[in-house]
Amino acid sequence: MEIGDNRLHDIQEMLLQWYLENQRDLPWRRHSNAYYTLVSEIMLQQTKVATVIPYFERFIKRFPTVYDLADASDDDVVKLWEGLGYYSRARNLHAAIKEVVATYDGVIPNEKEKISKLKGIGPYTTGAVLSIAYKQKVPAVDGNVMRVFSRLFDMEDDIAKPATRKKMEAIAEQIIPDRSPGDFNQALMELGATVCTPKSPECLFCPIRNFCKGYQAGREHILPIKTKAKAPKKASVIMFGVKWNNKLLVQKRPSSGLLANMWALPTENRMEEMPYISQIEEYCEMNQYSAKISEDVYRFEHIFSHRHWKIILISMELSENPVYLPKRSIWVDEQSVLEFAFPKVYQKALEQLGYRN
Ligand code: SF4
Repeated sequence: MEIGDNRLHDIQEMLLQWYLENQRDLPWRRHSNAYYTLVSEIMLQQTKVATVIPYFERFIKRFPTVYDLADASDDDVVKLWEGLGYYSRARNLHAAIKEVVATYDGVIPNEKEKISKLKGIGPYTTGAVLSIAYKQKVPAVDGNVMRVFSRLFDMEDDIAKPATRKKMEAIAEQIIPDRSPGDFNQALMELGATVCTPKSPECLFCPIRNFCKGYQAGREHILPIKTKAKAPKKASVIMFGVKWNNKLLVQKRPSSGLLANMWALPTENRMEEMPYISQIEEYCEMNQYSAKISEDVYRFEHIFSHRHWKIILISMELSENPVYLPKRSIWVDEQSVLEFAFPKVYQKALEQLGYRN
């Protein structure tokens, strides 16, 4: 895509000026600190700014430096992430910061080849940290930027395709100015988040309206083109709230797959064709439990990004401590249950069982 020099210069200047005057006051923008930038950018992936703010503040208060985070236990880090979702982000961030401390003397690297090799750091986060914290001319193309570009240049490329992201990065390379590349990247993202919004772009307040081909063609509402993601796959599961002697059985999820390594209640895939009561009997038999099964059966649903769980939750009280516990399980005193980091779906289950903050 060719953009004339004069036009390009005007777009750059207008966006930078607009950002200077209109940027939101966000906690990670108050300091120039690569660690804060990295933490905030990872939290912001697939998560709204308003949701991230209290999480970011708590996280930085608890782990003010890379050394504090590197020294923390995995459980502590995940506990602070509880409720934010996409927990692999927390584990990857933790692993990346441990590497920063072990290999780079506690300084987040300012070279693309090095930072992009840290765990969980993709092209967007690499660009965000290098441009915002280290003032380098590197693109940071997120969903907001893709939407702005699609409209600004009246592009019909499907933004769900990886090739489109590459194309957008090439465009961003062309238009980032030498002056304030980090502010420019943030200006594009901010414009997408606050003015050039998905459903109702406020073109009348847009600083680059006069350059916007999509607006001039009256196509701002149909752009960007995005093919629909597949609906989450449905699965039926059965969860067990197993109690004995004022303790609750909690189990770590397997180390790979959905909610890897997170604390959970024992959970089995449910065969729809088999009555759930037979499945409870089978579960008790498998674990050699002799249990009093509560009359209470809770049914609820939870939608992850790619899965849709239909859940039956059964509460049961064991009459004695079983000889064997299911793999990766421990008994937890009932009053300490909520000190563990549970993902949202299990928080919902615990709430049904009466465990509330
Ligand atoms: S003029 Fe409208 S469509 Fe174009 S960039 Fe601005 S807000 Fe988006």
